[in-house]
Amino acid sequence: MIPPFHSSPYNPRLMTTLALDGGTPALNFNPKPWNTIGAEEIAATTEVLQSGILSGFVGVWGDAFHGGPQVQALESEWSHFFKIKHSISMNSATSGLYAAMGACGILPGDEVIVPPLSMSATATAPLVYGGIPVFADVDSETFTLNPDSVAKCITKKTKAIIVVNLFGHPGDLDPILKLAQAHNLTVIEDNAQGPGAKYHGKFAGCVAHMGIFSLNRHKHIQCGEGGIVVTNDDTLAMRLKLIRNHAEAVVEGKGETNLTNMVGWNYRMTELEAAVARCQLKKLPRILNNKIAQAEQLTKHLKKIEFLSVPVIKNDCTHVYYTYPILYKSPRPTRDLFVKALAAEGVPIVARYNKPLYLAPLFQNRTAFGVYPFSLSSEDYSKGICPVAERLHESDLFYIPWCSYDFTDEQIDGIGMAFEKVASHLTLLQSRAA
Ligand SMILES: *Cc1c(COP(=O)(O)O)cnc(C)c1O
Repeated sequence: MIPPFHSSPYNPRLMTTLALDGGTPALNFNPKPWNTIGAEEIAATTEVLQSGILSGFVGVWGDAFHGGPQVQALESEWSHFFKIKHSISMNSATSGLYAAMGACGILPGDEVIVPPLSMSATATAPLVYGGIPVFADVDSETFTLNPDSVAKCITKKTKAIIVVNLFGHPGDLDPILKLAQAHNLTVIEDNAQGPGAKYHGKFAGCVAHMGIFSLNRHKHIQCGEGGIVVTNDDTLAMRLKLIRNHAEAVVEGKGETNLTNMVGWNYRMTELEAAVARCQLKKLPRILNNKIAQAEQLTKHLKKIEFLSVPVIKNDCTHVYYTYPILYKSPRPTRDLFVKALAAEGVPIVARYNKPLYLAPLFQNRTAFGVYPFSLSSEDYSKGICPVAERLHESDLFYIPWCSYDFTDEQIDGIGMAFEKVASHLTLLQSRAA
């Protein structure tokens, strides 16, 4: 099978012809797709199906306004696990981001600072309430918002900042919260990729005013589609619940007088999804241990390759590796060829993360949501506004989709050796790219 890994660059036994050039691929396996749905989830959903009550929500003020027994149990278990006062389930993290924008009171023309490297919903969330996304650049090591760049984006119109704990590493939250306090801004953590990561002793997602988790099928834990917004703030929690469940129909029955203009959506989670999510939450600690241990195992291998940077972990933080990001430091433009060579060896690898979000047609054309205020805004979305994010996308960053596969420890060593094999041919690859 796979021979033992030998240290010191590079094991001469691996310096065979690249698979790219017709040689035998270094890896002779297909990693198992990630799937942690098992007997527990089947039993829990069967019980819900037998009850006949697939959703417990009613859009009327009263007990059923807060959802059925599975939804309420999930929310209290989530709060207990993450040591947070309120957990409000949603039908996706996207809905959670939209609800968070409404909860903090974004109005037409308000500016919300967001990072360009993320999943698209991070940047569309402000638009839903007429807000204007303003892109600050990211840090070149952690790929999360750079506080200095955030500071430069703050204007009189800024109302909120969405920090993305990208790839499973927390954002630089302390300086960003400090800025927010000075300017009276709400800070939201998009923690879809970082469940269980830690920032200075706290859980990522639970550090800022609100945090959003995703339970879609590509994340560490899943229930098909789902999301959770967490907060320690009672007012924000109530607003999130109203937005989740037809606020406009409820405020009267609830006796609200100052929320009468609130429009709610249907962001409600079903009992089936909540039942699955409860089982999955129980599995999270074991999943995290495995993801982290295997990432550290791969890091040991990749550290030997001097033109690559392994994931950086900041002081008093943990990384939970939604993906395993790698920086390519060698003379350009050979990252894409290097990644192509790795893929030919059988390494599950992606050459580039999402294009900086402002480069999408939505921001280039500015026609979504009618004409006002997004289409008339003079906010700059041109190429060049976030040079670090653009460079990472164009030439420096690539990644292994760590939560898409269920690797064995032997496979991790195999991946390490495949990297070593390709690295030993770097000069050849560079001459070809030149
Ligand atoms: C997955 C993801 C989302 C959206 O999650 P859904 O539950 O699919 O809506 C938002 N932000 C980030 C950073 C994500 O990775």
